[in-house]
Amino acid sequence: MNTTSLELSKIYDLAYKVLMKHGCDEYNAESVATTVTHAERDGSVSHGLFRIPGYIASLKSKKVNGLSRPSSIFLTQNAIRVEGDYGFAPVAIKVGIPDLIETTNKHGVGVLTITNTHHFAALWHETEALAENNLIGIACTAYKPSVAPAGAKKALFGTNPISFAWPRENNTPVVYDMATSTMAMGEVQVAARDGHKVPFGTGLNKNGNKTDDPSQIANGGVLLTFGDYKGSAIAMMIELLAAGLVGDLFSFEAKEADNNDGGPARGGEFIMALSPQLIAGENWNDHAESFFKQMKSLDGVRLPGERRHNNRIDKGPRNINKQLVDKINNLLNEV
Ligand code: NDP
Repeated sequence: MNTTSLELSKIYDLAYKVLMKHGCDEYNAESVATTVTHAERDGSVSHGLFRIPGYIASLKSKKVNGLSRPSSIFLTQNAIRVEGDYGFAPVAIKVGIPDLIETTNKHGVGVLTITNTHHFAALWHETEALAENNLIGIACTAYKPSVAPAGAKKALFGTNPISFAWPRENNTPVVYDMATSTMAMGEVQVAARDGHKVPFGTGLNKNGNKTDDPSQIANGGVLLTFGDYKGSAIAMMIELLAAGLVGDLFSFEAKEADNNDGGPARGGEFIMALSPQLIAGENWNDHAESFFKQMKSLDGVRLPGERRHNNRIDKGPRNINKQLVDKINNLLNEV
């Protein structure tokens, strides 16, 4: 793979400028460019600059409002709804998180439902923002169908990611963030682009047979959930939380509403925060640390989130796929 070396500030500039060029105002471009840059910084490559052509396609088709001004209301004392104004999710999240932190610190539990938004990013951004404020964060979102429920050969679920973050005093939080499919479709697309195989059984080809060829899964095939019927149950739960509870589109409805411009479909997101200080009490951190110590004492174990947090220490340039950078520069130079 041919790569171009780009400083993090250059990655931000590239993302920001191309978003501004195609219809975002500063407020919206800043949120999305920050999310993209943080993804590249942490090595979440499938949700960094790789997503820019999709973001731009959805601005060009006018599906997404690059001038969004999400608004926040309290449904109850600790349930908040952010109306996303049909913009990109990072903008709505930025509006909702401060209220969620405040109410959770007061009541121990807080729920943030985000509607009418377009999510194309990793979810650790939002759960980690909560953990950095000493709260436990849980987030999930549904997407257009690309995953077959257990037993089926046709897609009904999205890749439906879920993220969980646990705060740690004087340490980076423990964070997992995973699609409930065997792989995220973004990873499958990256594997197809780079000519790599994926594990056999990652998905089915268009004839309903298991395959290890990512292009056959991405083009007319379907993904499977991890862990057979167990992962399928979690993917179903995410549909119910992020669509049923939030009051936004299920994956199958998102598909019907979408214009297939290559950008993110419309939908909702469910975010929950819990205060260990209020619920577990003073000793919560030491108690959890004793558990992490036990985990880490086992050979071969690493805590989820460690890979990203280690990547983050490196402040130097990142190697970005050259074709991708050329593509984004072309979008920037379009007349
Ligand atoms: P991965 O399978 O790469 O990783 C899943 C999680 O497992 C990560 O938190 C990772 O931590 C952790 N992990 C990986 N290996 C180990 C290990 N050996 N020991 C302990 N923990 C480990 O992620 P996915 O491919 O499933 O998902 C990638 C991204 O795609 C996610 O960020 C998700 O939010 C995003 N996504 C977004 C969608 C959207 O609609 N917006 C749709 C679907 C997915 P670490 O990061 O430290 O490696």
